[in-house]
Formats: sequence, C-alpha cells, structure tokens
Amino acid sequence: MSEKYIGTKFTTNFLSQQPVQHSQISELKKWCSIFAQKGLSPALPGGGFGGNLSFRCSNGFIITATGANLQNISASQLVLVKKIKGNTVFVEGKQQPSSEAILHYALYTKRPKVNAIFHGHNLLNSKLISQYNIPITAKKQPYGSYAQIKEVLKICANYDILLIKQHGFISMAANMNSAGKQILDIIDKG
Ligand SMILES: [Zn+2]
Repeated sequence: MSEKYIGTKFTTNFLSQQPVQHSQISELKKWCSIFAQKGLSPALPGGGFGGNLSFRCSNGFIITATGANLQNISASQLVLVKKIKGNTVFVEGKQQPSSEAILHYALYTKRPKVNAIFHGHNLLNSKLISQYNIPITAKKQPYGSYAQIKEVLKICANYDILLIKQHGFISMAANMNSAGKQILDIIDKG
C-alpha cells in the first residue's frame, strides 16, 4: 500500500469517445458507491483511487475510469474495454480505464464464467483471511504490472475471493450482485 499512484502504465487507444451505455451501468454505480461507503476502497497515496469495478458485456467489459471517485461515478467515468493488444488498451469512452484494466482482462480470459470483478484496496484482517481460507499472492508486485497479474493468475483458478499481497482484494462472480455480496458478507463479520 506504500506504493505511490502514478496513473496508468499502458497506452489507451480511444476507438470512440461516445459515453458508454449499458442497461447494467446503474447496478455498477450502486456497487461503486457501496464500496466507497463501506471503506472497501481507501485512496492510495498520491491521490489515486482505491479500487476498480467492472462487469463483462457482449463486446468486452465496462470498468471504472482511472482516478474515478467511486462514491459518485459520473457517466464519463465508465469505460468500455473492447480488446487489449500488447500494452495498448482499446476502449470506448471519454477517460482512460482503470490502471488495473489489464488485470481485469486477464481474469475474464482465465475465468470464463466470471462476469463481474470488484477490486478494492482493503487488505481484510488476518482473522478473516484464515477463517475464510482466502489465498494471497506470493510476492508483492507494483500495481498494474504484468508481474502482479502473473501472481494473481497463479492463484485465481479455484477462488472467487483472493488477496493481492500488500495491495487489496479481488471479489469475482457470475454477476455483480454475487461479487458484491460475497465480499460484504466477509467484511461485515470482521
Ligand atoms: Zn489495485
């Protein structure tokens, strides 16, 4: 958590700057707001955001913008990620996607039944981690790096909730409601 937030580490290619539209956007905004209220996404040093939430759609996934204030997401703070090639992220929308968009992409690729990924920079407490048998990546890596993605991919196959070492949790599920509820259930017991 001591790492300073310096923005995205990839290039964004804007295929269109039209605002993103989808019937499930209101649900995503609702969960962003809950994450902020519940302290699941505390801000990083350097003024960065504290988490990023996304859901899968027919032509990619819709994710919060980098630096987005989860408490009050505006229409321009949602970005459709259509594809990723090398270190370039191809999007529709007005702002750059979350600096961890490539991590979401890697997880949607590795876990085809997952349709929602919620990530917050809350480390949970050690009691909850052992009680719920939550796996933790082996090595701390810089945010948004391929090294960090590799660490996550090593442990994500059989777990829907996991921790990125000294960084935050990931909660993923077949839909947004489950991705949100399963992490709230744990936090509320902490
Ligand atoms: Zn993060």
